[in-house]
Amino acid sequence: MSIPHVQLPYFHDLPAADEEAFRRIVARIAETHELIPYSDAMQRIDSGNFDRPYAAFSFDDGFISNLRIAKILEDFGTRGMFFVPTEFIGTRTTAEARAFFGFADGVDEGAMSWHDLELLKQRGHEIGNHTSGHKVLSWVSPGEAIDQISSGAEAIRAQLGECHHFAWPRGRYFHMTALAAQAVFDAGHSSCASAERGAHSRREAQPLRDTCIRRNHVLASWPQRHIDFFFASTALQSIGSPDLWPGELQIL
Ligand SMILES: [Zn+2]
Repeated sequence: MSIPHVQLPYFHDLPAADEEAFRRIVARIAETHELIPYSDAMQRIDSGNFDRPYAAFSFDDGFISNLRIAKILEDFGTRGMFFVPTEFIGTRTTAEARAFFGFADGVDEGAMSWHDLELLKQRGHEIGNHTSGHKVLSWVSPGEAIDQISSGAEAIRAQLGECHHFAWPRGRYFHMTALAAQAVFDAGHSSCASAERGAHSRREAQPLRDTCIRRNHVLASWPQRHIDFFFASTALQSIGSPDLWPGELQIL
């Protein structure tokens, strides 16, 4: 855990019952890592030069419980990245939320509003693009994939003034295409994040567009040793890895 690297733990919704567990997880990570905002982490990954362990938190889907989580991060002196599917913003009921994501259950809350996101941004948090409709980019037509990416960025820029980072829905390699990865950078984003497990460690400088960002999904309900295992093993595996896109997703 002490090798210089960047860890990107990420979460979805965090119901009130999980808040204390989340606070313990942040405290535990802060023992071994300096907590930094996501865009700072991207700059460090871009340069490839890390002098110590860092961690940046991100949260996918824009659930309303993320507002309380943002306060906890502030207690630890850091800020979060919130990747939002823009058409989900403002969704109030659980039923609407389930309909949006296409799940029969497992989604128990609605979304933040644009006003909530504006307030988060004013407090130093960051808002990233997670497509407009949370469509799986490898399952829709190439044209629709490009539209999902560009319309999400446009909506965030129209409402909040800027949008620099992207994370694709579902996050596994097989949920992405090379064409969509190209479209992410064509739409003006400077980074593109997966949900494939991994960390980023010291290496030669490499443009962010050649780097597939790896994040470690964490559930607040997991035992701490389980989380420690993912962090330590991915930090070790990242040594000497250039973090390139896998062959089938290589941007031409
Ligand atoms: Zn998502």
